[in-house]
Amino acid sequence: MSQDNLAKMECTECKTVTHYTTRNRVIKTRLALKKHCKNCKKHTDHKETK
Ligand SMILES: [Zn+2]
Repeated sequence: MSQDNLAKMECTECKTVTHYTTRNRVIKTRLALKKHCKNCKKHTDHKETK
């Protein structure tokens, strides 16, 4: 099973992967999004990681 298109979104504060997203082929820069972290229990910056 290929997971090439699956990107993990990691909380930049606690380094926990809290969300998964499919990588859009258009996106070439690293994603940084505000998402809710269940670990931090608040919205934090998340970055795409492998
Ligand atoms: Zn967090």
